[in-house]
Amino acid sequence: MKVVKFGGSSLSSGEQLKKVYQIVTSDPERKIVVVSAPGKRSPEDTKVTDLLIQCGDSYLKNGHCGDEAEVLIERYASIARDLELPQHVMEEIRSNIKEVLESDRTDAEKYMDTVKASGEDNHAKLIAAYFNKMGSKATYVNPQDAGLYVSDEPGNAQVLPTSYESLLKLRDYEGIVIFPGFFGYTKEGKIATFSRSGSDITGSILANGTKAKVYENFTDVDAVYSVNPTIVNQPKEIKELTYREMRELSYAGFSVFHDEALIPAFRAGIPVNVKNTNNPSAPGTLIVNERENTNGPVIGIASDKGFCSIYISKYLMNRELGFGRKLLQILEEHGISYEHVPSGIDDITVIIRESQMNSKDEALIVERIYDELHADNVKVERNLAMLMIVGEGMRQNIGTTARASKALANAGVNIEMINQGSSEVSMMFGVKGSNEHKAVEALYNEFFVPVAAL
Ligand code: ASP
Repeated sequence: MKVVKFGGSSLSSGEQLKKVYQIVTSDPERKIVVVSAPGKRSPEDTKVTDLLIQCGDSYLKNGHCGDEAEVLIERYASIARDLELPQHVMEEIRSNIKEVLESDRTDAEKYMDTVKASGEDNHAKLIAAYFNKMGSKATYVNPQDAGLYVSDEPGNAQVLPTSYESLLKLRDYEGIVIFPGFFGYTKEGKIATFSRSGSDITGSILANGTKAKVYENFTDVDAVYSVNPTIVNQPKEIKELTYREMRELSYAGFSVFHDEALIPAFRAGIPVNVKNTNNPSAPGTLIVNERENTNGPVIGIASDKGFCSIYISKYLMNRELGFGRKLLQILEEHGISYEHVPSGIDDITVIIRESQMNSKDEALIVERIYDELHADNVKVERNLAMLMIVGEGMRQNIGTTARASKALANAGVNIEMINQGSSEVSMMFGVKGSNEHKAVEALYNEFFVPVAAL
């Protein structure tokens, strides 16, 4: 039995839904189908989830929302028209959207989660109606009825481990199960969503709970690429990669698959197959526990902007017990989590996401580091990009760092910092944000393009 998830762009129009129907019904093992809300039909389009957020915000501020609600309803209505669905389907969706927008707003965060979740919830009902109309028995299943319970963290919920046992019962449904992604219920019976793009997480949880053979994640690209295709033209596709490699890549900017979505599938040893709704016969990318290393040291290169470094130096830092802890505690007290901490004998750098520290916090933090830790020098640098080269093969290959730093030097990119991940499957380079693209291209040419082709 397979769990299949379709992303928003795969479900954005009637035409896309017809492809989805073909894909699901062409393989009897595709039994549990997790769906997103309708996504973009073109690059300029707006996702239903974003329309819902705009409407919810207006309701919170003004007690009503303008045209956005109609635009939103029309997204479903146009799909229902294309698929010639019975009228009651759209009537129910229309009244549900109105009801949700007008629901209790005393707790703004919980209200917003309920509004956001309605995007997938209504779409799952519509899709189930379509499958039934086409003659395939399909049942919409609500996450609460299935026992998908999550922590009470609005917009960032985590699955509660007890859910897994209940989810096994999804196997008992006759026909196909259509399950809305992106949210679960708290123990108090309130809706809580995962972080954005969280339908991937739902699919992975369901694959684990139902002990699926494979988790197929359908999106709009043929495969996971070895580098961001908006930076390098037609990069190499990755056929197979390990959970660890995928996790490292998606953390640093690979947006094909949510970085939290791997864990449930990984724990149950279920392979994840990323595939294309618009080209379903392409094999896609398979994410597995172990793979053969036939590709050289590096499988992928990821990069992301928006980082900031806090550099601290103090003579004899290495002899001081608890320096790192006290430093991180200061950051913790300001609600900041760190990404990397490369260190030397007398210095340490903490890398954080820039968005976590405004200039007021920055001044306070720097002052506390001088006062409480008696640092000699503290320097904050903003607008950094982090590049990650990732590959299980790096453990066996000597000289990967040398090759990478030489490629960056030849491209005229100064390396602000280097950090090798403890797992030895990733290496991080910090560069100025303005050098990001140049640096990625240089690394791609070094590790993926045969010398003769350059
Ligand atoms: N619709 C939600 C979002 O846009 C969740 C998802 O698509 O996975 O974030």
